[in-house]
Amino acid sequence: MELNKYKSDVWVDWCPGCGNFGILLALYKAFSELNLAPEKTIVVSGIGCSGKMPYFVNVSGVYSLHGRAIPFATGIKLANPELTVVVHGGDGDIFGIGMGHFVALGRRNIDMTVIMHNNGVYGLTKGQASPTLPRGIKTKALIKPNLQDALNPICLALASGYTFVARGYAMQPEYLKELIKTAILHKGASFIEVLQPCVTYNNVYTAKFYSEKIYKLEDDGWDPTVKNLSEINEKLSSSFKKAIELNNKVPIGVFYRNPYASTFEDRFEERLQNYKNFPPAKQSISIDGKPVLTDEDFKILFSKYIVKVKKD
Ligand code: SF4
Repeated sequence: MELNKYKSDVWVDWCPGCGNFGILLALYKAFSELNLAPEKTIVVSGIGCSGKMPYFVNVSGVYSLHGRAIPFATGIKLANPELTVVVHGGDGDIFGIGMGHFVALGRRNIDMTVIMHNNGVYGLTKGQASPTLPRGIKTKALIKPNLQDALNPICLALASGYTFVARGYAMQPEYLKELIKTAILHKGASFIEVLQPCVTYNNVYTAKFYSEKIYKLEDDGWDPTVKNLSEINEKLSSSFKKAIELNNKVPIGVFYRNPYASTFEDRFEERLQNYKNFPPAKQSISIDGKPVLTDEDFKILFSKYIVKVKKD
């Protein structure tokens, strides 16, 4: 499907120059090049500037609660494993209130993608320090330098069990598009940290800052892929080392890819025969052969949550 068809008519109201525009463009391009069917593709978000993504993309979507995009997405994917599920959340949303869910998804290795917009601040609520802002950094909304240490999203994803772990940059949408496509095609839980300048509240990690520091892992000869089962621990351990390397540069690209791990859905199928062919979403809820809820009941229940996008 051509790229423009993935654009909704909802006005994109981020601040002019925000890195989120690059992420949105990369997502449109990835969906278009993968030719994803809108009715079988779901974008799920939490709360924050990144949380508005489902409004801007013309596929199915859920704008959920702060920190709860992953459990919503988990329910959707397990109810219907045929769907392509992509979670969007900010650093505050996913690594603050949503942290436990992030770890649980990695442990389960459910086949879906998490794209984390990392701008180091809580942009929607006026720029407080987020869990990825390093200690000692003073952005313009902070009265004094940050007192807390930052967590490393790549290390956390590796330690949690994600089987595809990458970092992209919002101002390089073409490269980010390729990462998103590879993450969606990967079988298992995939995670992309996207470095995203917040032009309004983060005057330290700016586009200028990144333009002087970013390099691609492949240009450094890095090979992220586990080639056989006996190589998993060794590759994981060198991916950790790569993620904490301090050379005053910022690597982007794929840190780790393990195509051998079973997904939660595979394990579920072993326990519950025919789960993938006949998942909960394809079963009718009935008592004595009579449906508990009819199609009409569903329409009444959910009609108020549907955002109608008008096309000329
Ligand atoms: Fe983007 Fe920051 Fe504005 Fe939010 S506050 S829309 S992250 S520039």
